[in-house]
Amino acid sequence: MGRRRRKVIRVVRRTLPKVFTCPNCGVSGVRVKLKGEHLALISCGNCRLTRDYEFTGRKEVIDIYNEFVDQFMAGKIKSDQ
Ligand SMILES: [Zn+2]
Repeated sequence: MGRRRRKVIRVVRRTLPKVFTCPNCGVSGVRVKLKGEHLALISCGNCRLTRDYEFTGRKEVIDIYNEFVDQFMAGKIKSDQ
């Protein structure tokens, strides 16, 4: 087919910050910030939930967020204060 290929925009290493729904307060104010190769800072701008989250392997922020929510829901991560 003579259709033009859409330009694929690749996100290399640093993904742009996106806002996710907070598992604690339900507001979409959570940001995942990569601090290191296996460490991310997850913070909610609404309820001030802030957590360092260690992960293994190479993950996108969305994967890190999903894992974090799973663990949060499972009660493995508690909000202090
Ligand atoms: Zn929150």
